[in-house]
Amino acid sequence: MSRSPALAPWAWQRAEQLLVPAAQPFIEPLQFTDRPPFAVLQELLDDLPWQSNPEALQMPDIHQASRLLALAPWLQQPDADQARELVRARADGLRTRLVGDTVTYVVNRNINVSNHCSKHCSFCAFRRDPGQPGAFWLSREALQHKAQQAHQRGATELCVQGGLNPAATLDGSHLAYAEAVLQDLTAAAPGIHLHAFSPQELLYFAECDDLPVAVVLQRLRQAGLASVPGTAAEVLSEPLRRVLCPEKLSARAWVAVMLEVQAQGLPATSTLMAGHIETAADQAAHLLNLLQLQRHAREQGQTGFTEFVLLPFVGQQAPAPLRQRVGRDQPDLQAMLLLTAMARLLLGPWIRHHQPSWVKLGLAGAAEALRWGADDLGGTLMEEHITTMAGASGGTNQEPEALEAAASSCGRPVRRRTTTYGVLP
Ligand code: SF4
Repeated sequence: MSRSPALAPWAWQRAEQLLVPAAQPFIEPLQFTDRPPFAVLQELLDDLPWQSNPEALQMPDIHQASRLLALAPWLQQPDADQARELVRARADGLRTRLVGDTVTYVVNRNINVSNHCSKHCSFCAFRRDPGQPGAFWLSREALQHKAQQAHQRGATELCVQGGLNPAATLDGSHLAYAEAVLQDLTAAAPGIHLHAFSPQELLYFAECDDLPVAVVLQRLRQAGLASVPGTAAEVLSEPLRRVLCPEKLSARAWVAVMLEVQAQGLPATSTLMAGHIETAADQAAHLLNLLQLQRHAREQGQTGFTEFVLLPFVGQQAPAPLRQRVGRDQPDLQAMLLLTAMARLLLGPWIRHHQPSWVKLGLAGAAEALRWGADDLGGTLMEEHITTMAGASGGTNQEPEALEAAASSCGRPVRRRTTTYGVLP
């Protein structure tokens, strides 16, 4: 695997040191044992570093994490209700000890600039070629109008992402176009937090303009960038990415870009796209890679990841071969609730805020996830295209009152937050 010249050599090297590969060979936890599955589960949960001390800054072992996640099929069996409740209660208890009972949300607007994209990720129902049915590219005036509307509705954040649009340039520069977009949005909505551009987009701007990622980040920061979405991570496992999204940046490149994001002092979110063809070992590697990055951020005195967002795979509009392999269109709620709990248990004190996706699970499903270790309901969004074009039925807009009612239905206090989980004045 060769380094993109846009990536700093130090980040590329450090990414290799940090990257945790999926455990090979991987042994299912219930193989080669005649112990009751419940006892195996209990032992794995008891062995987590923060079971006795929730603030213990240690790392779970990759084999331990893989074995715990591999219990998911057994945990979903109808007679495993006692075991499911144990997992739920442990995750819920850890959430209480780490962040308390308050449920948070942010009033934001999601803006997808364009779905023109030069890549062809196997799961993506969002991308289009120009002129294809459903293709769009918002003008800069339209973007400003959306920002103004959001500002008037009290939004404190704009989340800005899009496809890799080869034509989105200003004076021949992709970066100049991205800078102009951020400046336009700030002018239309003064003071708003700009949460924008995935690691894939950042690398694309850098490669197209023949610039280092560090320069891209510095200039975008000057143009108003305040934090980075941790999307395009999908599952940070190289063998899986070679099947799922071979054109996309590698896991190592994603980690390297994120190291450069950290080096610029920018916070980021973290995500996992789950429920497709990934294995428990892939999931474990992904979560540990997030932990490795978070540990690196802390060592450098940086914020790192503000939250973990579980993004269940929605396959309604995915290409037929992938749909056939996955075998269902919408996320399996029980599987995703279990994974919500497992992620809370495995990420421990390193990533304190956990967010389910109401776009994918529906608001009722997201509210249920609050009982499985989650503490945040994400944003109001006002509009959403990427998952909705994939066939998600959870909606594209939530009023603050609806998010507050969802939190209250679980008997939990609720508050609006800033993008970085600060308290609003
Ligand atoms: S996932 Fe992103 S990079 Fe991949 S095809 Fe879709 S829009 Fe393009």
